[in-house]
Parts: sequence; structure tokens; C-alpha cells
Amino acid sequence: MMAIQETKYIWMNGSLVDWKEAQVHVLTHALHYGTGVFEGIRAYWRDGVVYVFRLQDHLRRFYNSAKTYFMEIPYSRDELSDAVVDLLKANAARENCYIRPIAYRAFKVIGLDPSKCPVHVAIAAFPFGKYLDIDKGVHCCVSAWRRIAVDALPPDAKACGNYVNSALAKMEALRNGFDEAIFLDSHGYVCEGTGENIFIARANILYTPPTSAAILEGITRDTVIQLAGDLGYRVQERIVTRNELYVCDEAFFTGTAAEITPITGVDHRPVGDGAIGPITRELQEAFFDVVTGKNERYKDWLTPIGLL
Ligand code: PMP
Repeated sequence: MMAIQETKYIWMNGSLVDWKEAQVHVLTHALHYGTGVFEGIRAYWRDGVVYVFRLQDHLRRFYNSAKTYFMEIPYSRDELSDAVVDLLKANAARENCYIRPIAYRAFKVIGLDPSKCPVHVAIAAFPFGKYLDIDKGVHCCVSAWRRIAVDALPPDAKACGNYVNSALAKMEALRNGFDEAIFLDSHGYVCEGTGENIFIARANILYTPPTSAAILEGITRDTVIQLAGDLGYRVQERIVTRNELYVCDEAFFTGTAAEITPITGVDHRPVGDGAIGPITRELQEAFFDVVTGKNERYKDWLTPIGLL
């Protein structure tokens, strides 16, 4: 975990405000009840340009998450995408960054219907390195906590409240000496990590749980499905069982923060022979070529911002 590194500005409700001014009232509805939605986006710095990865796809998911919760975001997608660009320019981001847009029910009423609370929007961007150990890989446990069920909290809407479930599993994993937790869904099938999707490889075929398995439809997951296809691998979205985590050849997480993180062990069993597998490495390489603008084919996924 990294401490947040302060930058100059945060975009808040239509303007750039000083980092220290970007505050909320203690009676903010979302603080009490989790009634906000957010995104996590990465931007990669290379040769005088910072490339925001799949900005439009992240914003699309942001508006969809808001729709689920009857939240009317008072800015258009174009306005928010301009806001991200303005913010990165204003902060003169000359390194890899994490971008965090959030829309939340602000302060007005107490009680559970947030409809009368205004929707406030903020975007922060700050330097960000590795989230998990992408070089050495991570040892995971299958969490004793189940992922939120699709008929309890929609896991495919990226709502703030969803993440108390993730925080429980993450704390459990770390306290038990693991690096990360893997959730099973309410049916007992492999679901996702606390903030990552999961893939396994068996006999050169990649498998990842389907959207019906209570996952967030990850943008990195989609990226990896496409890149793996380009590299000639078959990818199947299908139910994955807990035992397959123990007997697969390779496993890895995908996510904006996690990028492609090799899973080298699950529940004290090595994944494969415990070393990072060749498919995982090949995908990592392909992924970093794409996000840093070295692969012409996927230039459309990048929003380049010149900062020279
Ligand atoms: N699942 C969960 C629960 C997440 O929080 C994330 C991170 N947004 C992901 C999966 C991966 O999604 P993405 O690749 O779009 O970041």
C-alpha cells in the first residue's frame, strides 16, 4: 500500500481547487452510507507524454454505476474527460499517475433515501507506482468472506459501499500473512480479488469467471482478453472452481491498480511450480507496450497529453 502523494490541485464540482481545500462535510451522505460511485484510472508517462488508459471506457462505467443508484452526474462525459486532461496538465504530471473520479451524495438529509442530497463530483490524480508486486507475484488466500451477491449489491456497479466487503477480505488476508484475497461468489465459485479480476491458465487456455459470477466487469480484464487473443491464446469466460486455483498452471490478477499481477500461490499451495509462468509474462509485456503507447494497434485506447 502506498501513502497518497500530494499534488497541487483536485478538480471539484467544476473547478480546480487547491489540494488542501478539497474537503467534504462530516454529514456527507456517502460517508455514512456508502452512496457514491467511483473509478480508478491509470495514466502512464513516457517521453514527454502522459497516456491516460481507456479513459472513455472508465467514464462510461462511471455513468453506468451512477445510473444504478439514480445519481444524476451534473456534468457530461466530455466535460469530465476534459477535466481529467486539465487536471493532469495543471498538476504537471510527469510520472505514472492514478486518477480517481468520484461522484457522491453530499450533505442535505439524514436517512436512507439520498435523492435530495446533491451529487458532487471530484477528480484527484496523484503519482502511483505498483499496487501489488507485479515482479515477484503474490500469495493469496481464498477469503472466508463471500463476494457481495448480485441480488444484494450489484458488484458490476462500482459503488463506494461495495468496498467494505473488499476491505474485510483484504484485512483478513494481510493479517493471515497473505498478500491478497480471492473471493468466492455466493454460489461458491471463484469470483475476483478485492480490487482485481482473476484469470487462470490450464494447458495453454485462459479461463476467467463470467460476468454472472458477481464480478466487476474490469477494463483490464477486457484488455487482457483482447491481447491474449492477439497472441493466439484461447480465452474462455466460464465458471472457475476453487480447486482449479490449486491445480492450474498459472494464475494472475488484472486491474487498473494491479495491472497484471502474477499469483504464485493460493492457500499455501504453489501455483504451477510457484514461479511466474510464461503466459503471464508474455501478457505483462504486451500490456505495458499498449499502455505506454508502444503498440500502434491500440492507440485508440490512449488519451495522450503532451507535457513537454
Ligand atoms: N474487481 C474489482 C472489485 C475492482 O475494484 C476492480 C478495480 N476497478 C477490478 C475488478 C478491475 O477492474 P479494472 O480493470 O476496470 O480496473
